[in-house]
Amino acid sequence: MASKINLFWFRRDLRLDDNAALFHALNHPLPVLPIFIFDRNILDQLEDRTDKRVQFIHDTLKDIKSTLEERGCSLLTYYDKPIDAFKSITSLYNVQSVFTNHDYESYGIQRDDEVKSFLETKGISFQTCKDIVIFEKSEVVKDDGNPYTVFTPYSKKWKVRFQQNRLGLFETEQFSHRLFPTKPLPFPTLESMQFQASDTKFPERITTDELIADYAKKRDIPALPGTSRLGIHLRFGTISVRKLALQAASISETFLNELIWRDFYHMILWNFPHVRAHKAFKPIYDTIAWRNNEQEFERWCQGNTGYPIVDAGMRELNSTGFMHNRVRMIVASFLCKHLLIDWRWGEAYFAQKLLDFDLAANNGGWQWASGSGCDAAPYFRIFNPTLQTQKFDQDHAYIKKWVPEYQELTYPAPMVIHEFARNRCLEVYKKALQSI
Ligand code: FAD
Repeated sequence: MASKINLFWFRRDLRLDDNAALFHALNHPLPVLPIFIFDRNILDQLEDRTDKRVQFIHDTLKDIKSTLEERGCSLLTYYDKPIDAFKSITSLYNVQSVFTNHDYESYGIQRDDEVKSFLETKGISFQTCKDIVIFEKSEVVKDDGNPYTVFTPYSKKWKVRFQQNRLGLFETEQFSHRLFPTKPLPFPTLESMQFQASDTKFPERITTDELIADYAKKRDIPALPGTSRLGIHLRFGTISVRKLALQAASISETFLNELIWRDFYHMILWNFPHVRAHKAFKPIYDTIAWRNNEQEFERWCQGNTGYPIVDAGMRELNSTGFMHNRVRMIVASFLCKHLLIDWRWGEAYFAQKLLDFDLAANNGGWQWASGSGCDAAPYFRIFNPTLQTQKFDQDHAYIKKWVPEYQELTYPAPMVIHEFARNRCLEVYKKALQSI
């Protein structure tokens, strides 16, 4: 029988530095073999075979693999369903424990339960750690032990905890000698998984102190490069949220607050399973009589609504996989309130297109916009796209970039007049909510 090893399973924590579960794995005396599974349960459902997120994961793993190979180890990769991958791995290696970081989404929870049960039958332990958020689950709760549902008190308690427990980092460098020595292992090409690469340039993995210092001033102006663009890196764990929070904490409370929103939405997802199942956080909002007009939805998706700020946002999303936060709020409000289309349609469209798609933040953002979420904008607050433009894109710099024809005759008239849409929305929402 081959000698025992431990496995470290990468998921949305694609980095070697400051990685909690990798650190704990390397702290054990047994050699550690890192693994990654290109999960067919997820990949087979992606319609776009040029999905840039798959390329991002693939590129990142290639770098990780070569770093591991410089240290005499490698990366064991599978293109399979996780449970089948583990059946295969455990038939090839004598595994004592599998280490991995927590996942808070429904699919991840279910996948981990299944893998854990299988491993138990083989006498292998499944050890999991917190890594992708600063505080998770019930670490920041009200004095009575119940989860917060309003952001401001949550963020206050979060900051007290953050001050009290100065964050430790999980430096793995000094344990490199605990990696399992092996020859370079095979690595699937994108093409072998029926995906294609494109010449996408992904955002930088770092942000400067200057950007964080100016963040409060510039973050609401979509024409400026005033936000970090770190979404994709936080999504796939190519940067450590702990390091970013420590960097931000001494420079900008506004920036730190955004990272707290991220924790907040993960906490909501964990504590309120009906949200994981895409139900309205406030159940009464599931009684709204959405119009759900498919042609209107298509015009919104394509950026042809006749509202330049909405169209600019949708076109930015369609061509880059990114949309500025201010504009995400405007387009989401427009879909739910002006068009009365179920927020879940918009949520699903964003999930397909956003490079930084994250179930917790996306669901939180959409429920905020529709009014159905915890701590959401009240239902009677309906963004006026024209006023939003005057406030945040006064000289139309953002609009001109994405909708250059916005003043020409070829540009469509607004698909619905704001005042009419506003009154219609209020009526429909009121009808649904009259019982509260
Ligand atoms: P920065 O402004 O530089 O912020 C730094 C980081 O803080 C972000 O990368 C992100 O991880 C986090 N953050 C910032 N704002 C929020 C927020 N409101 N909620 C939670 N985390 C936040 N964010 C996602 O990461 N994934 C999504 O799928 C997503 N969908 C959204 C959908 C809607 C309808 C709305 C209104 C917002 C959504 N957001 C989402 C939040 C926010 O728009 C993005 O995090 C932000 O625009 C990403 O750009 P950035 O990296 O430059 O962010």
